[in-house]
Amino acid sequence: MIDDKDINDEIIDEDSIDIDNEDNEDNEDKKDDYEEFCMICKRTESKAGKMFHMPNMCICSDCMQKTMDSMMDFRGAFNNSSNNKDKNDSDNPFNNLLGFNIMSFSDFQDSISKKQKVKKSKPKEKKKEESPEEIFDIKNIPAPHVIKEKLDEYVIGQEHAKKVISVAVYNHYKRVAASLNNDDVEIEKSNMLMIGPTGCGKTYIVKTLAKLLNVPLAITDATSLTEAGYIGDDIESVVSKLLAAADNDVEKAERGIIFIDEIDKIAKKKNINNRDVSGESVQQGMLKLLEGSEVEVPVGATNKNAMVPLATVNTKNILFICGGAFPDLERIIKERLNKKASIGFSADLKDKYDNDPDILTKVTVDDVRDFGMIPEFLGRLPILFALKGLTKEMLIKVLREPKNAILKQYEKLLSMDEVKLEFDDSALEAIAEKALEKNTGARALRAILEEYMLDIMYEIPKDDNIGTVIITRDYIEGKGIPVIKMRETEKLVDKALPGIQATN
Ligand code: ADP
Repeated sequence: MIDDKDINDEIIDEDSIDIDNEDNEDNEDKKDDYEEFCMICKRTESKAGKMFHMPNMCICSDCMQKTMDSMMDFRGAFNNSSNNKDKNDSDNPFNNLLGFNIMSFSDFQDSISKKQKVKKSKPKEKKKEESPEEIFDIKNIPAPHVIKEKLDEYVIGQEHAKKVISVAVYNHYKRVAASLNNDDVEIEKSNMLMIGPTGCGKTYIVKTLAKLLNVPLAITDATSLTEAGYIGDDIESVVSKLLAAADNDVEKAERGIIFIDEIDKIAKKKNINNRDVSGESVQQGMLKLLEGSEVEVPVGATNKNAMVPLATVNTKNILFICGGAFPDLERIIKERLNKKASIGFSADLKDKYDNDPDILTKVTVDDVRDFGMIPEFLGRLPILFALKGLTKEMLIKVLREPKNAILKQYEKLLSMDEVKLEFDDSALEAIAEKALEKNTGARALRAILEEYMLDIMYEIPKDDNIGTVIITRDYIEGKGIPVIKMRETEKLVDKALPGIQATN
């Protein structure tokens, strides 16, 4: 038996010889005086035979063989319970000596394949974490009042529309859940048609809804749609947009929402002689889609061609929401109501409805049919409702109140420069009045505000002493400049910013 101390000495000597060996011939002789020994059984090379060299140690072929055998015997031990692991560790001296976890080749393969599996399923697990609200079964569908409460945080006014849409969406996803459970009673699809002037929040409600429900949303413009084979997007391209919004996940896309804006632009054209490829025939083409059919759509492109793979998407559970301003519809509704009002015992003033601002809310399916939508199309959009045009008061609220209100956004931007931004109530009124003149609803607000904020956003960072900026009605009307408070004094200063002058 070799003494441990001797061995250590030998190791030290051996190391030093190895290093010197590289360039020093004299050491060749010295090396011959020493022999390598096995780290495990401590036999020398002359007894144990050829050694396997590892960093800082050698192992004889017998011990190496035993190590490999033990690896086979104890395979799986490290994947199982810690009890097993401990047992194996203590049973097998090689484990500790080698200083690394022993794993058989098949375990290694297993672990690799497990890793691959984890890798594949990882995004799905992540999605679950990120999307607790995702609608999957009937228990997770938020109740209509919850949906509406959430919408209230973003959308000003439009109480009726928010209520209708919350109930419709709730029923739609209940229907989806019921169809997954293969129930006998088939609930009808709750596709919607929303009518409202431009900039009143049609698209905004749908966008907010899709975000809250965490379902994919595709927004498309009916004006670009034409009958298949004609220049323009064919009708099925809306489904491929949805598929793209769902990251090409067909299952997810099949529970999504498709919003088709400007639907009034595909009304039946009156008095035209040639084929109506972008009007009535688009409505005809959409019937199947609205009702539910299997559509072959290109993955990752909007046009089918030989190079693009196709996926089959079933539109049965896709919620279709159509929206439009229907500009001439008010006249149609008025005519109908006035006709009714002037007949019979309950005859009323003939022009009773002429100045009714909420005339659109009295819309019926017949009115929309008179407008030019075909009955089959309307039959597939059973929920019909109107949104109101935004009033001055509503526009002021849109500026100030929603969770991501425009004013809040500007306030945040300036607060990063440690400058406080304030708006006088009268300034907000002035902005709303200007927006009303443009007749594009809340859409005009951002453009107007941007116009006035540009100079402020440019000038303020020039002077570190500015603490507060107050936007006044005079500034919006071009009669004055914004009021500035300096940081040290916090007193109002009649300080003119070099780049900002009264325009009038
Ligand atoms: P449209 O009715 O023409 O589809 P949008 O929904 O696109 O109009 O509205 C344009 C923008 O105006 C939205 O992005 C949103 O910021 C704002 N907006 C419109 N209506 C409202 C509303 N009722 N509440 C809050 N913001 C609104």
